[in-house]
Order: sequence, then structure tokens, then C-alpha cells
Amino acid sequence: MTIVLVVNSGSSSLKYQLLDMATETTLAAGLIERIGEPSGSVRHTNADGKREREAPIASHDDAFEAMLANFAELGPTLESAPPAAVGHRVVQGARRFFGPTIIDDDVERNIDELSPLAPLHNPANLAGIRGARRVFPNIPHVAVFDTAFHTTMSDAASTYALNREVAEANRVRKYGAHGTSHKYVSEAAAEFLDRPLESLRTAVLHIGNGASACAVDGGKSVDTSMGMTPLEGLVMGTRTGDIDPAVLFHLHRKAGYTVDELDDLLNRRSGLLGLTGTNDVRDVTRRAAAGDVVAQLGLDVYVHRLRHYLGSYLVTLGGGDAIVFTAGVGENSAEVRRRTLEGLEWLGVELDLERNQLPNDGIRVISTDASRVIVLVVPTNEEVEIARQTLAQTGL
Ligand code: ADP
Repeated sequence: MTIVLVVNSGSSSLKYQLLDMATETTLAAGLIERIGEPSGSVRHTNADGKREREAPIASHDDAFEAMLANFAELGPTLESAPPAAVGHRVVQGARRFFGPTIIDDDVERNIDELSPLAPLHNPANLAGIRGARRVFPNIPHVAVFDTAFHTTMSDAASTYALNREVAEANRVRKYGAHGTSHKYVSEAAAEFLDRPLESLRTAVLHIGNGASACAVDGGKSVDTSMGMTPLEGLVMGTRTGDIDPAVLFHLHRKAGYTVDELDDLLNRRSGLLGLTGTNDVRDVTRRAAAGDVVAQLGLDVYVHRLRHYLGSYLVTLGGGDAIVFTAGVGENSAEVRRRTLEGLEWLGVELDLERNQLPNDGIRVISTDASRVIVLVVPTNEEVEIARQTLAQTGL
């Protein structure tokens, strides 16, 4: 039994999962939230059920102590299920990390140096790495980067038409994100369809709270909708996605917004939340169906952008063999899927409305048997992908 601990350390949360990689099953998973706030929550789920408690968690080091206490008290104990390696999610690897990387002090330094490109994420990821290396000093730690899958994008796809010297001096280019998920679901789709990955052209729509589209050609990312940061592209739960950058100049000059206020507005107070008052697609679709015009417009904008990227990527790919929906919305919202693919029969995309309505229950085809482009729902599993890459990298 080879066991891997997967750690996803955010600015105020720590998510972990202990996986038995012989069967790729989860032995336990946990979420520690509101690190650094007066009151925090600690959740741990294992085969016996779930336990949640409130407790103040001052720092990431404290969060790791809480995780260890969860394993010791609730099980499985780490003596009975000792991890052979730890896999860490890291958001920004830029053009420095092209795949999973065994962490040493030098790698930590490099992740730190990339922080200006992901100021919300890399420092938090690093806090997790440091905490975990202290707790587990004798096993390998591997960094798995959200950006690595997209390092195969051409310069044409990843270069902004910004002044070249300015862009180069400040490392401004498209790096993408959600790479671990795009890789996992595109590979799972090829395996499920029993088609060689090398010859499959897939458009992936990862639509959760964060959302991104990816054109995958022969298992390689050739374009993706997130940019230098996860703000670009699709309309998301709270982020604008694409917007004319001149809107920022306008809001600054006319309404006095500061850079920090604009950052907050575009990242946390826009998207579906800003359009409709809620970032939950379930509520938005319910309200839209009941005739709420605000919710209807929010959903229209959301779907319009999805279609924009889908069309773009089918051209980029020179045609598509498969379209994959994944993540919270992609896996669960039959309505978003239906509306995204509406009227695309001329492209060879024929959704089977009954299959589309079936509840989320693993990987499945939702197009008709006659559809030239196969449409699938593929539940994503970033933790398993991180654990797989961790094992592959350590050679365990
Ligand atoms: P994250 O980006 O935080 O990982 P998830 O992939 O978990 O997000 O997706 C969360 C979102 O999924 C929720 O905000 C909600 O809008 C959407 N969602 C979850 N279940 C459903 C459902 N049954 N129908 C429509 N949307 C859903």
C-alpha cells in the first residue's frame, strides 16, 4: 500500500487528503478554514464519517498541528497509514517549472520568487510546504504546479500584444491555471473513449467557482482562457473574466478607484455574484426559471462567454473530437451544458437531452450516438492527479 498525502494550502485554508494509491481511494480528507482569524473551523472526514469543530487556528503551522491531531484522534493514524510522500498544489510555476518537482530549499526559493505573479497564492502554497516539511521531514515533498500543463502553449497563444520590453521585464504572459484538472479530465476522457490520447482533440470546460476553458491537442494544452492570473477568461463565481482593460482606467479616473479596490472589485465582487447577487449557479438558474430578469441576464452573460471560448477552441484545434464538462457547474448543471451547446448541430455537436439530465454519477457521454463530436461529463479529481504526479516524480 503506497500512501500519498496531498496538501492544498490557501491563504486562509488548508485542504488535505490522504490517498491509498494502490486503488486511488481517499482514506481521509480534511479542510481547515479561517486560518489567522479569531475563530476557525476544522473538518475531517474518514470511513467512519465526518467531524467538524470550531477552534482558533493562528497560522499554517497550527493548521498542520490540527491536521495531525485529526489523524491521531479520528484516524486513520499515520502510524497505520504512513504517507510515503507529500504532494503540494502550487498555483504559479511560470516558465520555471515544467512539471512536478521534488522540493528542496532551492525550489522553495524559486516558488517564493514567483510570488509577484501570484501574490494571493504562492505565499500561501509556500506556507503549506514549509509547515508540511517541518511535520514530515523524512519523506519527499513534490510541488505540482497549476501552470505546468500549459507550458506546452505556443508563444503565439501565450504572448500578450503588450510592449515586448515591458512584458519581458515583468514576466507578463499567459500562464493559465487549473492545469492539473485539465490534464486529468482530458486523459480520463481518452481512456474512457478508448482512443489514443495522441490523436484526440478535446475542448475542456472546467466550470466551478473558478472557471477556465482549455484546448487540448494530443494530450497537450495549446490554449487556455486564464491568463497571467486566474482573472482572465470565462465569467466566474466572483471574477469578471475578460473585460476591456480600459474599464480600469475609466473607474480610476472617473470614480477614484485605487488599484487594490479594482483588484477586489474584479476578483471578488464581480462575475455571477456581481451580476446577480449570488455566485451559486443553482440559485441563479432557479431564479432565472422563475422569471427573475437580473438572474436571466447573469446566466446569459455566463453562457455567452462559454460559447465564445468553445467556438474559439474548436477552431484552434482544427475541429474537435470531444467536449468535456467538469467541476461543480460542469458536472452538475444540465441547464448550463444545454445552453452552451444549443444550436451547434452544424458543428457536429448533438446533445442527448435525456442523458444530459441524468444526475452526476461518474464519467459519462451526454451526446447522441450520432453526434460527430462526443460530449462528456468527467468528474475532476485534482487530488488524485497531484498524488499520481507525486508518485511518478519520487519513483516510489
Ligand atoms: P471550486 O472552484 O471552488 O473548486 P467547485 O468546482 O466545487 O468550485 O464548484 C462550485 C460551484 O458549483 C458552486 O458555486 C455552484 O455554483 C456549482 N454547483 C454545485 N452543484 C451544482 C448543481 N447541482 N447545479 C448547478 N451548479 C452547481
